[in-house]
Amino acid sequence: MRKLETRTIVVASHNKGKIAEIADLIGPFGFSAKSAADLNFSEPDETGTTFEENAAIKALASAKASGLPALSDDSGLVIDALDGAPGVYTANWAETADGTRDFAMAMQKVEDALAERGASKPEDRTGRFVSVLCLAWPDGHVEYFRGEVEGTVVWPPRGASGFGYDPVFKPEGYDTTFGEMSADEKHGWKHGDAFALSHRARAFKKFVETCLEA
Ligand code: IMP
Repeated sequence: MRKLETRTIVVASHNKGKIAEIADLIGPFGFSAKSAADLNFSEPDETGTTFEENAAIKALASAKASGLPALSDDSGLVIDALDGAPGVYTANWAETADGTRDFAMAMQKVEDALAERGASKPEDRTGRFVSVLCLAWPDGHVEYFRGEVEGTVVWPPRGASGFGYDPVFKPEGYDTTFGEMSADEKHGWKHGDAFALSHRARAFKKFVETCLEA
């Protein structure tokens, strides 16, 4: 496991919601970070079929373009009754004809697919959010950190916080959706805590424990 010796990195993302969450998570560690969007890097095509492959594509593209270590996140919602869909295609389900993203539409698509399968009871609507963080160096070395959080898909959507599919995801053991939680509640973690809640905070905790502190 390679340690991260610098605190100047690129956050290899163009997704505002993710960039905000990663900024929150890295904040206490004294990082100076610009995002791939800030640097006007083009968005690479996510041609992989796993979260790891897509995370590496994004992190390597930013590391090579900047000459700095780059941290990416590839994430998605994996629903059991839909055989794992939308999975690595979670962002694609939100794509509209004009190339923008519409998450109200994407959440409706998920609901329609669940309804088609007769999945109305909470126990038939289980799944997880997955986040794979990839830290890539300009020399091509990569490290991966995976976080998952189990939960159920609720309908109708609840709450206006967060981003993406947050309003329809209720983590196991909680009465509120991610959309009804503040960012701090959704992360459910700060440096030194043994527990983290969100998939991204769980992956980030592994990154801290292995690349920053080990
Ligand atoms: P990608 O990793 O950029 O390919 O896309 C991940 C997709 O999963 C995005 O469309 C997000 O909206 C969705 N997603 C990932 N993490 C979260 C989250 O924490 N909350 C809600 N949606 C998420």
